[in-house]
Order: sequence, then C-alpha cells, then structure tokens
Amino acid sequence: MSEPVSFAAPPASRERFLLPPAIILLVFAMVVVAVAGFAFVSAQQQSLGTQRLRNDALREAMRALEAADASAAHVLNGDRGAMAVYFRDVEVLTSLRPKSLDTLPEVPPVLDTLLKDWSEAVSLSADGRADEGRQVLVERQSRAAVARIGEAAEAALGEARAALSKYEDNIGLGTLAVLVLQVLSGTLAMSGMFFAFRSSAREARGRSLALASADTSREQVARLFDMADVLQSATDYSDANQVLKATASDLLPGFSGALYVFNNSRDRLVRSTVWGIGDDVATPETIQPDQCWALKRGKPHLNRPDGRKLCCDHHGGPQTVLEIPMIARGEIMGLFQLFATGERAQEQLDAATGLASAIADGMSLALANMGLREKLRNQALRDPLTGLYNRRYMEDCLQRFVRLADRENREVSVVMVDLDHFKRLNDEHGHAFGDSVLRDTAMSIVGTLRETDIVCRYGGEELVVILPDCGLEAAAGKAEMLCERVAALSQTHGAAISASFGVASVPYTSSSVTDLLGAADGALYKAKQNGRNQVMTAERRPFQLERLEDQLDPPRLQAAE
Ligand code: GH3
Ligand code: MG
Ligand code: MG
Repeated sequence: MSEPVSFAAPPASRERFLLPPAIILLVFAMVVVAVAGFAFVSAQQQSLGTQRLRNDALREAMRALEAADASAAHVLNGDRGAMAVYFRDVEVLTSLRPKSLDTLPEVPPVLDTLLKDWSEAVSLSADGRADEGRQVLVERQSRAAVARIGEAAEAALGEARAALSKYEDNIGLGTLAVLVLQVLSGTLAMSGMFFAFRSSAREARGRSLALASADTSREQVARLFDMADVLQSATDYSDANQVLKATASDLLPGFSGALYVFNNSRDRLVRSTVWGIGDDVATPETIQPDQCWALKRGKPHLNRPDGRKLCCDHHGGPQTVLEIPMIARGEIMGLFQLFATGERAQEQLDAATGLASAIADGMSLALANMGLREKLRNQALRDPLTGLYNRRYMEDCLQRFVRLADRENREVSVVMVDLDHFKRLNDEHGHAFGDSVLRDTAMSIVGTLRETDIVCRYGGEELVVILPDCGLEAAAGKAEMLCERVAALSQTHGAAISASFGVASVPYTSSSVTDLLGAADGALYKAKQNGRNQVMTAERRPFQLERLEDQLDPPRLQAAE
C-alpha cells in the first residue's frame, strides 16, 4: 500500500551545525602543536649534534695536547728526531684549540703560557741545553698546567654528557608527543570527514525525500483539481460516484471505501457507491444519522474492528474504518468511508486522513451543487401546488417517448385525468379545500404508479399520466385503479370526489404526440359524457402496415407477398 510521503526533513540539531567546526578547530590546534613539537625535536636534535661535534673536537684537542706534551718531553729527553713531531703536534693543537680548548673557561691563558714554556724549553734543548729546558718546564709547572687543562676538559665533557642525555630525553618525549598528536589528529580528521560525509548524505536524502514529497503533493493537488473539474459536469449521483471511485482508487490506492448520501426525506443515509471492497465485506445499505459518531460530531471518526473506544452502532466486520462527514455550505451531504485491514490499518488511515478529507470536501461540494441544480430544475419543471411535473416537461417527455416507441417498436400510453365537478367542489367548500383535493389526488396517483411513470399537471384540475412501455389494455387497467383511488378520497375529505379518465396509446390508437393527447382527450370527453367517475379508452386505429414491415425481415416479407 502506498503511503503519503512525509514532508518532514531530518531535524537540524544544534550539534549538527557545531560539531564539524569544533572538530576542524581541534584538528587544526593539534596540527599546530604537532608542528611546534616537530620544530622542538629538530632543534633538540640540532643541539645534540652540535654538542657531540664540540665534544669530539674537545677530545681531539686533548689528544693533540697530550701528543704535544709527550713529543715535547721526547725532545727534552734528547730525542732530536722528536722535534719535527713536536712541531707538527703543536700545529695540530693550535689549529684545534679555537673551537675546543679556547671555549673552556680560564683555559686559553693557561694554554698560551704552556705553549710559550714548551717553545722556550724546546729552543733551549735545540741549543744543547736540554737540562735548562727541563728546568724551565719544572719551574713553570707545565705538567700541572696540562693536568689543569685536562680537568677543565673533563669537567666540560661531563657537563656535555648531562646535556646530551637531556637532549636525548627531550627528543624521545617530543617524538612521542608528535607521534601521539599525529595519530590523534589523523583519527579526528578521519572522524570529522566521516561525520561530514554522513551528515551531507543525510541532508541529500532529506532533500530528495522533500522533493519527492513535493512532487507527490503537486500530483495529488492536480488530481483533486481534476476531480473538482469533472464533478462540475456530473449531472447525477451515478456520474459523481464514478468520478469519486476513479479519484479515490487513484489517490488512495490499496484502500477500499464507500459513499453514503442522505435520502430525500433526510431521515437516513443510503449507500450510494462502494469501491475496492471484497465480497466478504458487508456494508449496511442505510445508516441512521444518530448511529454515526462522525455525523453527530461533525468531524472524522475512526471505527476499530475490535469495537474499542467510541464505535458507531452501524459498524461491524474486520475492517478499520475512517468515516468523514461530508459537509458543504453548513449542511451535511453524506458520509465518506475509507476501509483498511491489518495491523497497520489505523496508522495507514491516519496518514490518509488529510487526502481523504480533501476528496470528501470536493465530493460534498459537488453533491451540494447537484442538489442545488436539482432544486432549480425542479422549480422549472414542476408545478408548485401539486409537486407534479408541469405541462412543458410533459410535452418534452412525451415527444421523447413517442419517438422512442416509433423507432424501437415500443409502446407508450397516456391517461388524461379530469376531476369531476371541481368547480362545484370549489364553490361549496372553498378554493383552499379544492387545492388540498388536487394535492391529494396528485399524491394518490403518484403513489399508485411505478417510479418510471410520469405524472404531470396539464392545467387546472386536469392531469396527464405517461406510462412508458405500457400497452392500451394495461394502461386502461391502471386507469381503473387510479379511478378507484381518487374516488376513495371522498372518505377522507368528506365530499364527493371523483375523476374521469381517457386512455390512448402509441401505436394502438395514435401515432404522434398530438394524436395521442387528442385521442386521450376524446376518450376523457366520452367518460364525462357517459356520467363521469369512469375510464374510457380511445378507439383503436386501423392496422398499421408500416410497423409490421419494420418488424419482419425482407425475405419473409417477400414470401408473404
Ligand atoms: P367537469 O366535471 O365537467 O370537469 O366539471 P368541472 O367543474 O370540473 O369543470 P370546469 O372546467 O367547469 O371547472 C374547472 C374548475 O376547476 C374551475 C376552477 O375554479 C377549478 N380550478 C382550476 N384550477 C384550480 C386550482 O388550482 N385550485 C382550485 N381550487 N381550483 C381550480
Ligand atoms: Mg377541466
Ligand atoms: Mg373537471
């Protein structure tokens, strides 16, 4: 069963709008912190490298210092060959000192003095005065100076080791923090993307649902306009029922339904049509207005199959029924019913209530218009005193029936009625009395005949009855019955009431409308002449060969000739 599509898009919550920017900000902050951490780690690594280089330079300088000390000692011990080594070592030491030993506090002056002392001692040794040279070094405590430089270098290297381990710790921590931040920001970015994708997918779905829903509503409105348009040209209930069935089946597929309209006396609703209902479901033929909650409350009402809650007396069966009163111009025109079965019946009917009400509204307006048209038509066609059809309508009608009888070899009879001594009745009992006798006579005649027979007021106290598909004898028989009924009114009115009847018939006595009315009038005249309160039949006319020819097929006709 198709259900009306809901227009409601997913509700836009505050969080939905705030979360993505929050995630973006967080990710941005994490990236900034990670970049800062990365810069910090790089700086620490650079410092570590610089420190290591400085340490290496210091160690190399110390080795050069020790080598120079040793080669100086060799020279002073008389090893003349060590002179060249001494100069090379001093040269190496001199080249290394600016970036190493000279950076240590208090070392450069000590080193300068040491180099000067070495140079003086080595010069003395080169002059063959090695003892004096040794003496110079002893006096000037060259060894102690070397040791002091060594201690300073060791102290610096010790500090450097602590700095190195601090750098390494910082690098470890920084790397770990950057890693954690990268993982976190990656996860957050991923979840942000997922969230954005999910919410945009949801929005797209909501938009497409809303579009589909708008399309459906547009189609439904167009279909309702169509229904209203076609109903404008519906001339009777049968036309209106067909339009309703087509529209309801189209707009509310899967639902079955029924339409009830008020009868003429407006004391009960009569089933006008049903659609989509299986043979197993019985719908009542009539509904009493006081049995129906929808009519009593003037608004839609739901009758459940279990009869729970407020349930109409006329309801029964396995269906859940939505009942909508059809109201137009403040007047209840009928009752629109929509049926559903199954567990979701109530839910489906609730969803269909809006559309069903729109259909019921359109239909009630059409019924009201039809009633109005019928009223106007009746005013133009009927006689106000008796409620019978007027003479103009009778003539149109008779023309149609005679033509039909002629074309399709059918019969139509006319009974002309004239109340006896009506002038006298008026004179004796008053004009109002005469009016009421006329009204009762009309009612009595209409009540005696079939619904398809047509009773008209021809003029004054003369009536004409048209009996379609009724032969001369049958018409005479009916006229006899009417004669008795009119005479019986004497009892109720306490005055002598009777009428005379003239009967004529196509094809038996006449062939045209004028003939027919003339023949009936002639027969009526005879009835009056004959003493009134009786029926007279027009004389049969000579046998009509053309009608016989029409009835026989050509070969049989030739055979007859
Ligand atoms: P007959 O038996 O020969 O038909 O006699 P009659 O008196 O019925 O016929 P007549 O044609 O002489 O009189 C018809 C009377 O019917 C005249 C008129 O006052 C009366 N009549 C015609 N129309 C009405 C009406 O609408 N109301 C009343 N009360 N009387 C009417
Ligand atoms: Mg008359
Ligand atoms: Mg009369």
